[in-house]
Amino acid sequence: MRIGHGYDLHRLEPVAPDGAGRPFVLGGVRVPHDRGPVGHSDGDALLHAVTDAILGAIGQPDIGQLFPDTDPAWSGKDSAHFLAEAVRRMQAAGLRVGNLDATVICERPKIGPVKSQIREHMARLLGVSTEAVNLKGKTHEKVDAVGEGRAIEVHVVALLVPA
Ligand code: MG
Repeated sequence: MRIGHGYDLHRLEPVAPDGAGRPFVLGGVRVPHDRGPVGHSDGDALLHAVTDAILGAIGQPDIGQLFPDTDPAWSGKDSAHFLAEAVRRMQAAGLRVGNLDATVICERPKIGPVKSQIREHMARLLGVSTEAVNLKGKTHEKVDAVGEGRAIEVHVVALLVPA
């Protein structure tokens, strides 16, 4: 078995045309919100953290090394593309996701109403059952940048098992 940890944070700003925020997307699911992530790709902090957890578990370069934010090819890119590459490398190493546990920390939007949809979508991307993908939503109790709604933070732990 191999275990990996992933972490990501993205600044949240008003969405265009009021600011630099991209449409809010989490785990590949669009969620209505007046703010969105600032990032080189689509800014999906959850998929980025999952990608890094898998890459970390197999001892490979991280998402920033594989897909540098200086490369225009990744501008606005659907982060499912990055996850697919991590999954490809995981499978090449003879492993699959046993289970994955994610914690999303943001003041808004609320994660509860979209939790099932995100779990199901990520399970499809990973080729596992929905039960193998857990998601927890928390606030930051209104303090600091995350609590003031100016950022979203994600932690992920993934356990990989022989395929
Ligand atoms: Mg990121």
